[in-house]
Amino acid sequence: MIVVMSVGATEQEAKDVRDLIASAGLTPHDNYGTQRVVIAVLGDVGPQRDHLMSKLNLMPGVDSVTPISRPFKLTSRESHPEDTIVELHGTRIGNGTLTIMAGPCSIEGRAMMIETAQAVANGGATILRGGAFKPRTSPYAFQGLGIEGLEYLHDAGKATGLPTITEVMEPSQVEVVAKHSDILQVGTRNMQNYSLLTAVGKAGKPVMLKRGFGATIEEWLMAAEYIVSSGQPNVILCERGIRTFETYTRNTLDLTAVPLLHHLTHLPVVVDPSHATGKRWLVRPMAMAAVAAGADGIMVEVHPKPDEAKSDGEQSLTFAQFEDMASALKKIHEEVKTLNKDPFAMAGPVRVDGVSKH
Ligand code: PEP
Ligand code: MN
Repeated sequence: MIVVMSVGATEQEAKDVRDLIASAGLTPHDNYGTQRVVIAVLGDVGPQRDHLMSKLNLMPGVDSVTPISRPFKLTSRESHPEDTIVELHGTRIGNGTLTIMAGPCSIEGRAMMIETAQAVANGGATILRGGAFKPRTSPYAFQGLGIEGLEYLHDAGKATGLPTITEVMEPSQVEVVAKHSDILQVGTRNMQNYSLLTAVGKAGKPVMLKRGFGATIEEWLMAAEYIVSSGQPNVILCERGIRTFETYTRNTLDLTAVPLLHHLTHLPVVVDPSHATGKRWLVRPMAMAAVAAGADGIMVEVHPKPDEAKSDGEQSLTFAQFEDMASALKKIHEEVKTLNKDPFAMAGPVRVDGVSKH
């Protein structure tokens, strides 16, 4: 449930509410980004729910107490109707502008990273990507430059003024990745690595959580809930395709996730058509479709010489292809930004099929 305090509620009144929640064996959690003090009640409320709700309702300074029907509490729209806007120095994600994250799959060297960063910055990117710790299917494939790669990413970000994003694969890497990068990325293979989710949630940096290739929307949001409940409210969700029977594409891009997530959660939604399709020529049309569907941004892989890339060359764009795609995306975004306004209102009170019945 969530407790909404009145506009003029005092800090003492809010504290009394938190104390009552704690004395019931539950955890009070302040919701950020809202106009008033909103306190979420986390934990298994069980049979004491009605009693606790009426007790909270009677407390001074309390405006309303509402149950949250979804199992994901802090990430649900019910608990936080306003969109979460992730603020990075100079850039915002989820505020209605189009975020374009671009860069190489793997950081391969300093010169290559700076060259790519400059090309994508000139071509319209707003965030610079690059992998230093690479989750590779084969143990014999290039595993990334590690900390050396993080330094190149950091320098390329500084040289271009672009905020940076890179993947962190395990809890022991969180500190060093957070030191070098503006956003921490959790990859598809780690979406349900709960110790990693908790660790990134405590690192003090925004996190982009990619969808597990076998995860339902609800499992994905529960994973995001781990990060937010560990202390990090700025989580970006990235749809990057799911595993289906189709083998022609690397994954199957689930674009319904975009309006569905806007309905269910206040978190920004980004789409990665590179890993979703695995094919360079499919990246542009799927990026266009993602923007048309209302995505807050896209993430794509770009390489100076895709055919020589150490990883994912077949899905990486050339500089010219990136620039051409980015200008098409900006036009589509201008066209559709007012049309995609409010999926929440359109769906109304009807429960979305296949999502929690809790
Ligand atoms: C990546 O973005 O570098 C990556 C490995 O993506 P995913 O986790 O979606 O496969
Ligand atoms: Mn890749």
